[in-house]
Amino acid sequence: MGEEKTVAIKKIQASGQMRKIMSDYFYALNRASEEGHPKVAWCTSVGPAELLLSLGFVVYYPENHGAMLGSTRTANTYIPAASAIGYSPDICSYLTSDIGAYIKKETPLSRAYEGVCSVPKPDVLVFNTNQCRDVQDWFNWYSRELKVPVLGLSTCRGIGKIRADHLRSIVDQIEDMIPPLEKISGQAFDIDRLRSVVALSKECTELWKRVLETNMSSPAPMSFFDAIIQMGPAVVLRGSQAAVDYYKVLLKELEDRAVQKDGAVEGERFRLYWDGMPIWGKLRDLAEFFISLRTAVVVSTYCNSWIFDGFDPADPLMSMARAYTEIFIVRDENTKERSIEQMADKYEVDGILFHDAKTCPNNSNNRYGMPERLTQRLGIPTLVINGDLNDLRCYSEEQAKTNIEAFIEQLEA
Ligand code: SF4
Repeated sequence: MGEEKTVAIKKIQASGQMRKIMSDYFYALNRASEEGHPKVAWCTSVGPAELLLSLGFVVYYPENHGAMLGSTRTANTYIPAASAIGYSPDICSYLTSDIGAYIKKETPLSRAYEGVCSVPKPDVLVFNTNQCRDVQDWFNWYSRELKVPVLGLSTCRGIGKIRADHLRSIVDQIEDMIPPLEKISGQAFDIDRLRSVVALSKECTELWKRVLETNMSSPAPMSFFDAIIQMGPAVVLRGSQAAVDYYKVLLKELEDRAVQKDGAVEGERFRLYWDGMPIWGKLRDLAEFFISLRTAVVVSTYCNSWIFDGFDPADPLMSMARAYTEIFIVRDENTKERSIEQMADKYEVDGILFHDAKTCPNNSNNRYGMPERLTQRLGIPTLVINGDLNDLRCYSEEQAKTNIEAFIEQLEA
């Protein structure tokens, strides 16, 4: 290649404020866990977090903990402990690393936040199968282990057109959850309180969308590898004023950068779409690698999955059902393909990279011919790299980088 040189990752100034609100969040969870009040709910990333927040729970997200295990490169220490009790290394490595860490009584939260000794103890576990079945098995394990009630939403998957009966079924299930959750939280359900939380989630999601859209500029002010860190508040603090305030600050910084043509990648030559999960243990490494290739990863399925256009405080329950169902992972192959096509067009990408994550077929969209079809229709090349979200045994760095370099050479040609 000859072009490769090391370039430092540019700092996003707002990040200091993000670290502060994330730290406040984890200390609040820890206090609630120690004092027994407010009650702690564990929830899957998409929800129904809004319902739980409206009932006064503080909400903890095991998937976020899984991502921490990945990014701190400790996941592989823990996966064998889950395998030893019968959980296959081929299933979700968030699940196996998280359960393994629990068995070994360790958490990266202790290293990040002084005085936090463990993940917060749950009073209830609430999952939504809209993303996969693994979350149900994951939460059921904790329910048996900790003797804590588990509740769940079962969502149809592989949906093309969203029908009224899909949404009605989810609304019914959410309504069924309310009485047991009221009992656990000690607070009565209040539709106006739910409206306020949904309004905050909507504001957060709209700001997050605008943050991502700053990357329609060329050069793009933020890379995919920045964005997956910056999405932390959209995942764990959705429904709070803190997340809304944070994204206003971040948006201003990125809009200024876009105007000043201050790109995340100096001398941006190529723009890529990243489909699939991040490889959490290799974020910095890959960020630097793409900078050295003067290639910006400007848009991704993953970061866009936290845009919930459906939220509407005027009709909170139905709009939650719509928001949780509209997202990419729930949809059929044609809808997913059209979504990637539109994004590739909107962000003017030169190529699409698919990450085939060994332990997450749900987020690996390359397995049924989609890259080939998109290449044909869009006239741009696609590349598949093999890896995993957390299990680095599935990722060959040398092979991935050789393939990416060859892909960039193809773009040059
Ligand atoms: S969608 Fe994939 S990464 Fe997320 S919980 Fe399910 S299997 Fe794990």
